[in-house]
Amino acid sequence: MEADSDIKTTPRGFQCTLCNVNLPNLPSLDQHVKGRKHQTLSTVRATRKSQEQRSVFVSGIKPDISQADVAEYFQQFGAVSDIIMDKDRGVYAIVQFNETDSIQAALSCVEHQMKGLKLRVKPREKKDFKLIPKKNNSQNLQQALDRLKPQLCQLVSVDAQMQYVVERFQLGENEKKARGLLVQLLQEVFVEFFPDSQIQPFGSSVNTFGIHSCDLDLFLDLENTKVFQSRAKSTTEQAGEGMSDDGRSEDSILSDIDLSTASPAEVLDLVAAILRRCVPSVHKVQVVSSARLPVVKFHHRELNLQGDITINNKLAVRNTRFLQLCSGMEDRLRPLAYTIRYWAKQKQLAGNPSGAGPLLNNYALTLLIIFFLQNCEPPVLPTVDQLKDMACEEEECVIEGWNCTFPSQPIAVPPSRNTQDLCTLLFGFFSFYAKFDFASSVISARKGRALPITDFLSKNKEEEVMQEEKHAKTQPPSPKLGPLNLLDPFDLSHNVAGNLNERAQRSFQRECQEADKYCRSLQYQRKSTKGKSWGLVRLFTPHGEVPQAKTEQPTISIPFKSASLPEVLRNQLHMAGEGFRLLWFQKVCVAVEGVFQRVLRCHFTRSPDAAFGEDSVVDAAMELETTSASLNTSINDSCDSVESQNAASPLGTAALGAKRRLSSGSDASVSPQGKKPRLAKRGKPELPHWICVQKHTVWAGRRKVKRELIKDTDLRPEGSCMELESRVTVHIIEKEPELKEALEFKVQPQMVGGTESTKVVLKLEPTSDKTGVFHDFFHFLEAFLPKMVETLLEKDVASA
Ligand code: ATP
Ligand code: MG
Repeated sequence: MEADSDIKTTPRGFQCTLCNVNLPNLPSLDQHVKGRKHQTLSTVRATRKSQEQRSVFVSGIKPDISQADVAEYFQQFGAVSDIIMDKDRGVYAIVQFNETDSIQAALSCVEHQMKGLKLRVKPREKKDFKLIPKKNNSQNLQQALDRLKPQLCQLVSVDAQMQYVVERFQLGENEKKARGLLVQLLQEVFVEFFPDSQIQPFGSSVNTFGIHSCDLDLFLDLENTKVFQSRAKSTTEQAGEGMSDDGRSEDSILSDIDLSTASPAEVLDLVAAILRRCVPSVHKVQVVSSARLPVVKFHHRELNLQGDITINNKLAVRNTRFLQLCSGMEDRLRPLAYTIRYWAKQKQLAGNPSGAGPLLNNYALTLLIIFFLQNCEPPVLPTVDQLKDMACEEEECVIEGWNCTFPSQPIAVPPSRNTQDLCTLLFGFFSFYAKFDFASSVISARKGRALPITDFLSKNKEEEVMQEEKHAKTQPPSPKLGPLNLLDPFDLSHNVAGNLNERAQRSFQRECQEADKYCRSLQYQRKSTKGKSWGLVRLFTPHGEVPQAKTEQPTISIPFKSASLPEVLRNQLHMAGEGFRLLWFQKVCVAVEGVFQRVLRCHFTRSPDAAFGEDSVVDAAMELETTSASLNTSINDSCDSVESQNAASPLGTAALGAKRRLSSGSDASVSPQGKKPRLAKRGKPELPHWICVQKHTVWAGRRKVKRELIKDTDLRPEGSCMELESRVTVHIIEKEPELKEALEFKVQPQMVGGTESTKVVLKLEPTSDKTGVFHDFFHFLEAFLPKMVETLLEKDVASA
């Protein structure tokens, strides 16, 4: 099979040569082969191959020959399905036929004469399909940093380094002027076609956070044009055909489209046509109607500038004003934002310019910074609600039902009492998000605090509909929940980080933890006297893959994924309020038992006697306390003062070097029965756990067995189907010999949450592994268990 020929075995597992990725074990290989990337590339390869087999290479063409000329000429050999011309020089073309036979006909013709030209026709070269490896991003990032390094290293402080980053990257005056001129030109062109329309720049070109290469985001406001059009229509109806009252002929582009009923895509098609035909130097014009907000993209050749035009995007113009206001009232915001944006780019955490894809975009990152500054002690920035109260009547602003009121001038906002320097605030940002419980919080810059996820878990559809019918949105519809929930400060139904996947969220937090650790060292805070890298330079070192934190014991984490919980469970958790973690933990424990017993057919028992009783439960936060305490030893005095201030912050997530609080309320780890842990005074107590005995290699060869079973039955494929997975196990047990000695191991569940991301951590420990298979089983479980627990949670709810 072709797919199998792409897979090579390596000493560290497998390699897919098609996609150029390494896979550590069979389950991940299995997942990869079924995944989107592999499937897409396989399809593209098959299509390319088939196209190659049906096309010829034609040279000897002249630039004035058109595609239609070539098509017309080659039709005589068979139906032509496509022609690819060498657009710039127009000297060759690839002619693709519908049928392979046509190639022979074209090649066997002795002489090709077209419009007086002698053409050469050759078979198309067969190229091996290879994924062109992306430029090594880490290398590029490292090179960029190498150029920045000498200047940064010679500065005297981290504060000075951060200011330097702003100077180095911010948009220059000439760049701003050039952008301004282009906006003016576009305004002049568009007003010709859309009378009274207005084009307004927003985003990084004008929000004070722009960098040299940033795109130009534009909002084409057609509100007044709509009014113009409807007025013109009624006048025309009264006066008969001809001219509208202000003399502008309605025989314009507006006679082709009714703005009051046209879809955004239709309007954008027109915008694209205008750009193509009437704006010099604009090329690569493309309508993207599938985006959350449909957009026309274009490129300006001379300015080497990427532009985006949207309609219906008043909120973005307003949130741009908000960012401008924030940097106007707080000088420390820009150096922080430029530094953190650069750090995030180096760590490959942010920077999908289109806002699509799984990474943070710059808007989301800036909101995270603002939220952190609202949570400093004392706050560096006010909350958006507080800003609303500082505005005067004329500044009131409601867009699409959302309250977007804030003062227009920074002077209206009292200055912050916080006097921390940039170096401390940057450190604080990393500490804050290093410990942030993303899984069970919704970040709200509007309120300036994290809202409990349980407030968003229950969706009362009827209520939502009623709300939408009313104009005032007091109770907004729920945002799309995900691994990182960051509410837009104005559109409260929108999760600005809704595109993030779990991996991206984890990387963000892990990089914050790494940065937090680094910021505690002297290398961060003091200039090296020996000319070594220090301060921001080391912080900016690009990272490819962040290594997994080393654990002494094999552990499997089951994260709290609010987005994928079944509706009924979401409602139950919503009702549980503060106690939702415990309820979820208990459900997960039941599901874990289910996976081991019913799916993997292990002999699975709870620890004997009073193993799950109150006496045996200890506080996991205590364990964390001991480990984090060792990290805190290198903190300098200035940090200590911040630490004591922040310990009382509303989130309990200290900004700088604060130790984790001892468990209180929902911060505590709990046992499967939900008993509050009691500290053991002497010796290490035995924690509640299960004992698992497995006599068969149920992890080996599952993929093959599954394929066979799917062929024979109509069961749904892997992961989502518990019955299928149980049958796979039974099949292996029946066919494969028993292990010489059964594998026995301990599984100890712990609940983490509060100041850590909410999750269940299962610690695994072999107690008898004479055949040495524990490792293989563990690797299998790492991928299999979280996925199956999710399935069982759904099933459990469905059958309840
Ligand atoms: P850059 O272009 O340098 O990456 P930017 O701030 O311009 O930074 P874009 O992704 O181009 O970011 O977005 C432009 C503007 O659109 C943002 O400044 C913001 O006003 C708005 N915006 C972007 N993403 C979102 C989002 N997820 N939710 C709401 N508004 C957004
Ligand atoms: Mg932009």
